[in-house]
Amino acid sequence: MYQKVKGFRDIYGLESRYWNKVEKVFKQTFKSFNFEEFYIPVLEKTEVFNRGIGSTTDIVEKEMFAFEDRDGTHVALRPEGTASLVRAFVENKLYNTPGISKYYYIGPMFRRERPQKGRFRQFTQAGIEVFGSGGPAVDADIIYLLYKLAENIGIKDFVSMEINSIGCPVCRPAYNEKLVAYLKSHSESLCEDCLRRLDKNPMRILDCKNDKCKTITKDAPVAIDHLCGECGDHFEGVKGYLDALNVPYNINPMMVRGLDYYVRTAFEMVTDKLGSQSAVGAGGRYDGLVQLLGGPDEPGIGFAVGLDRLVSLAMLNETEKENDLDVFVICFKDASDKIAIKLMNELRSKGISADMDYDFRKMKKQFSLADRYGALFTVVIGEDEAAKGTASVKDMLAGTQEEIEITQVTAYISDKLRRN
Ligand SMILES: [Zn+2]
Ligand SMILES: [Zn+2]
Repeated sequence: MYQKVKGFRDIYGLESRYWNKVEKVFKQTFKSFNFEEFYIPVLEKTEVFNRGIGSTTDIVEKEMFAFEDRDGTHVALRPEGTASLVRAFVENKLYNTPGISKYYYIGPMFRRERPQKGRFRQFTQAGIEVFGSGGPAVDADIIYLLYKLAENIGIKDFVSMEINSIGCPVCRPAYNEKLVAYLKSHSESLCEDCLRRLDKNPMRILDCKNDKCKTITKDAPVAIDHLCGECGDHFEGVKGYLDALNVPYNINPMMVRGLDYYVRTAFEMVTDKLGSQSAVGAGGRYDGLVQLLGGPDEPGIGFAVGLDRLVSLAMLNETEKENDLDVFVICFKDASDKIAIKLMNELRSKGISADMDYDFRKMKKQFSLADRYGALFTVVIGEDEAAKGTASVKDMLAGTQEEIEITQVTAYISDKLRRN
């Protein structure tokens, strides 16, 4: 017997139902915001992630499934979607399309993290990217989109939105100087990771989860108090649109983005329903990234949400059933099997889900299979019914039964399903 690779998992049964639901709702919601699906490859040249995510980040340094292919090419399984999508946007010269471009993706990502509860080495992210608009309206609209995703899968009450502005290349250098000066004066209490971050990426220290670091950073200078005029106006704009849309949000000055090309708006959707408070979705504006990956100077903004955790939240609601087949057709070999297989597919062609026992076992066994599939209706075609050209349609919830002409069964059930 084989076992799955450590950190990977199988999804089936009831959980698979919730995945179906969440993915379906996500696609509908993205479509309603006029986003187009972008199918990005699972494998990229490692260089795309080194550049796009940053070669000094944990993801690239420690967590990528990166290897040398047989022809010597260095490739990696994508650890996230943004770098790939920006690579594709530049490679396909999509920046030549006039106006604003809006894309979304849903798919598996791979990170070789230390396995721990609720974390997997293959996980699913859905994300969006918008290219071509630098103004605050798009920032607010996609924060609203993130909020709508939660609402539409029924977990609005389990999450809250946090926003921040982290400045721009104009105002950040002076702010960084102040921050580093403050942190250096308390460096004896910083954790080892933060001591390293002090030179490379001081802002990241603000969201360190280490308790000792937290006691120092709670009084540290924050970017939002050191914004230039343009960043200040931009943030006011974002808040104005969010207020108009009635999105509840908190301003969290300690929320940062790990990479240099992130500017201005940063946001997260957080929950406290999965243990300690944690982000289930995060995004930000990355105006320098398209250029960094070889394209023109084009503004961009996006977010990514972790579906594994959102599905866990959605499952707290218990709305999905393990099975929900519309019709199970019961028949008998040589007597009615051909009539049944035809009827079953006639039902399917009308969008009604239908199934049968391909082995035509005893009636009792066929009924128990119908039960296992959670069939709403069973259609029994016995020898008598076959001779008369009829079928017995049983409404499994109501417990009622009616004999219907075989040619009318699809219309009859279709009508009943519509009414229920
Ligand atoms: Zn600024
Ligand atoms: Zn720390």
